[in-house]
Amino acid sequence: MSWRPTRLEVDLEKVRNNYRAIRKHVGESVRIFGVVKGDAYNLGADKIGRVLADMGVDFFAVATGDEAISLRESGIESPILVLGPSPYGIAEEYVRLGIRAAINDKGIAKALSDASVRLQKPAYGHVKIDSGMGRIGFFPHEAADAVEEISHLPGLNLEGIFTHFAISDARDLTYTYEQHSTFVKVIGELEKRGITFSIKHCCNSGATLALPQFVMDGVRPGQLVVGMYPSKEVVRSIAIEPVFEFKTAISAIRTVPAGKKLSYGLTYETTADERIAVIPVGYHDGYSRELSGKGTEVLIHGKRCPIVGRICMDQALVDVSVLQNPQIGDEVVLLGKQGEETITGDEIADKIGTIFTTLPNMIGKRVPRVYL
Ligand code: PLP
Repeated sequence: MSWRPTRLEVDLEKVRNNYRAIRKHVGESVRIFGVVKGDAYNLGADKIGRVLADMGVDFFAVATGDEAISLRESGIESPILVLGPSPYGIAEEYVRLGIRAAINDKGIAKALSDASVRLQKPAYGHVKIDSGMGRIGFFPHEAADAVEEISHLPGLNLEGIFTHFAISDARDLTYTYEQHSTFVKVIGELEKRGITFSIKHCCNSGATLALPQFVMDGVRPGQLVVGMYPSKEVVRSIAIEPVFEFKTAISAIRTVPAGKKLSYGLTYETTADERIAVIPVGYHDGYSRELSGKGTEVLIHGKRCPIVGRICMDQALVDVSVLQNPQIGDEVVLLGKQGEETITGDEIADKIGTIFTTLPNMIGKRVPRVYL
């Protein structure tokens, strides 16, 4: 319970709708990996995970071993893939909990195999091929020999093989076609050596939208599930909706006479009597200081009102002079819809030179998550 009205509202029905749209788009036979890394973009991996599990999602994917363990501890029983590199020492935990590692080098494969032998329980991994992202995985020229070598390790089940696209959300998809064909070639070389995988996957949100012919055995949408298109350029082949809104309420209000300078740095000066509302949200909550002085607006009474002066750590000021009778406690929408107006993620992201997806990631711990 928080007395402060600032909150991140998460609408779980919208998560279900987005999932249904993705399922319809890829078909019933394709596995969907629900990517809930970073605590599901800060929205709560346990809650979003539960909803997806109840919808029948096939797999989960997270960034780190810690995230996988806490998802398992939250009661999720589906298989979980860790997308990033794993410390070798975690291998026994993975085997115990049925967590799949990205096999990005021979070391993690050996650690999983050793753990499997020790615990007398199978270990599972998905081989990671670096087809052009330039981050982790076996390079195409080394993949066949390396994967053949690890395929002989006892107890290690190479369940999947995957790659990650660097620019599948752009208008020009030439590089993504090249990455895909590199990946397909590596799989072909391995098949010639008798090494096959039951789950081959490469599509993130961008590719799931733009290149449905690349879905193979599974897709790994992250942003799409929580309703964010990965870019403005990407083809919006399915309709999804952001599952969250960032809200607060007026905490104080005064009429400030003309010629007064407001907030840190005194960057704003009133030009007439202005009704100035205080809202209890600041950069500690993820309402970036960089939004100051950029014409940022919030919604009150369904109308756009400008942020004035510098956004502080815990508070910000809004000029509410356009409103009839604003009161303490009136709802303020920082990101989302009120009446006929919407402040979109792209609108806020553009002001600070970022992308929509980074915005929920910025929301601070102090802000309660409220699930609808
Ligand atoms: N797959 C991998 C390997 C990733 O690293 C990520 C995110 O970074 C995803 C899938 C999900 O990406 P998106 O949110 O664009 O769907």
